[in-house]
Amino acid sequence: MRARWLAAALTWLCASACGEPAPQVSLPYDPELSRRLAKASPQWSSACERAPEERVGLPAGLQPRAQQRAVDPALTADLVQAIAALHEPFERLFQRHVCAVVLMHDAPMTGTLTVLDGASERGIILLNVDKLLSGDWLALKEATAFAATPGLVLRGTMARPDEHPRRVLLEFLLVHELAHVLEIVHSSDPLIAAFLELSWPRHDGLAQAPLVHYPSRLGREPLPQELLEPYYDLIASSAFTSPAAIANAREDFADSVATFMHTMQRGRPYQLDVYRQGRHVRQLRACWDEARCAEKRRLLERLLEQWRKE
Ligand SMILES: [Zn+2]
Repeated sequence: MRARWLAAALTWLCASACGEPAPQVSLPYDPELSRRLAKASPQWSSACERAPEERVGLPAGLQPRAQQRAVDPALTADLVQAIAALHEPFERLFQRHVCAVVLMHDAPMTGTLTVLDGASERGIILLNVDKLLSGDWLALKEATAFAATPGLVLRGTMARPDEHPRRVLLEFLLVHELAHVLEIVHSSDPLIAAFLELSWPRHDGLAQAPLVHYPSRLGREPLPQELLEPYYDLIASSAFTSPAAIANAREDFADSVATFMHTMQRGRPYQLDVYRQGRHVRQLRACWDEARCAEKRRLLERLLEQWRKE
């Protein structure tokens, strides 16, 4: 027992001294998890003052006694690096509005968020470690929206060949969830309100049969696989930057912010290719240099300018 304690203490000391992130655990998901974690606690005020790279995991004293799972230290290190790599205005917005990135497992989505009780300007982001292990997160996520069928293959491209794919993905996910937090804490911002009204509400087929990622979380069936091309054609001809953006107005805003950062600021690819029986049948790319998304781009650029001065 004593030897184990000593080993743990040495590991912690080495991690601190060497500048490595502390070992992390993930929490089992349940629908109330985020709300329970967000309950007002004196621990949160000091936790919100931690350096951004130290905001992975819950602060001491807030760890629930649920069945925790050890997290691969390489994933924690990638997450810390992704936070450190955030650039303006997201670096400052993260520091101001996100108090922790909490890891979870067995969740029916990649990420979610909530604002802290009694601190409406601040929130926490929850990321599902199970979805961060594969190399092609984009393709796996998009495949969940349609019924699987033999010969239908999706391929996603989100990083340049010289980049670390998971760090690139983590930065994308952090900015997507941060955008959700910003949409809540700046709910009265006229630029955000204008953005949310540009493509919504819908009165077309999307209103009756929305594209839903991870539909089992809502007790729904995936869309018939033969609808993939019509949905992708709709995305490619409308003011939508990605399949995630046609889910609802809030996803439209969050994924638009994330893909704008990813492609226009970072110069990274955001591409989804569809193959049937080995034949390339569709390709989707972010729309920010196309006329169809010009109005959304204009609003996002004004928002980014405003956020830089915040
Ligand atoms: Zn989202």
